[in-house]
This record gives sequence, structure tokens and C-alpha cells, in this order.
Amino acid sequence: MEKINKTDEEWREILSEEEFLVTRKKGTERAFTGKYYKNEENGLYNCICCGHELFSSEHKYDSGSGWPSFYLPLNQESIETETDFSHFMKRTEVHCSKCNAHLGHVFDDGPEPTRLRYCINSVSLKFQKK
Ligand code: FE
Repeated sequence: MEKINKTDEEWREILSEEEFLVTRKKGTERAFTGKYYKNEENGLYNCICCGHELFSSEHKYDSGSGWPSFYLPLNQESIETETDFSHFMKRTEVHCSKCNAHLGHVFDDGPEPTRLRYCINSVSLKFQKK
């Protein structure tokens, strides 16, 4: 897969301030404020930065966390993970495999069959209705 590399300046041109801060500076949207938290429509969730297909509504569930949650990414090529030691915690960060956009974190308290909870910022995503 061809990776996308842009400078902060180039990202700022195509992203809103909040999208830029979350995806390029590893920010977090406030819980329960994201536009996709309650979205139950069928479709795909693509990267707001590069359009890469990341998650499917098929694997979305209500975790009660305040952020859109999935128990599985769309496929193995969709995302990459990395250990994150920021904020005095050890967490696993999730980013777009194509453009490195920060998406959120993955935790091991999800539902069957994976028991994973991909906790994702709405602003990192662009929903494409099926
Ligand atoms: Fe991306």
C-alpha cells in the first residue's frame, strides 16, 4: 500500500482545526460529543484525512464510553497499532495504516468474539452510507 506523507501545513489546508488536532496531534474529542457515537446506519467509516477504509458498521457497538466503538477493524490492512505511554498510562494507540492519522485506542474489554474495543474519535472518521 502506498503511504501518504504530508506536512502539518498541508494537512491544515484540508482539515478543520479539531480534525487536525485529533488526527495529526493525537488529541481526543470530548466524550459523548462526536457525531458518530450514536450512528446506527449501515456503511463504512473511512479516514477523514485520506479516505482509507477503516471500520464497518457491522462491527460497531455501543460501549457506553462516549466514543464510537468497534470490536474489529474492517481488515488487517486498515489500521496499525503502537504502544502509547502518554498521560501516565500504558495504552495501545490506533492509527490509519495509510496516512498515520491518529484514530483512538484499543482496549481489551470489548465484546465477543474478539473482546477488543477500538475506541475511536468521530472526527477521525468520515461515514459512507451503504
Ligand atoms: Fe488515513
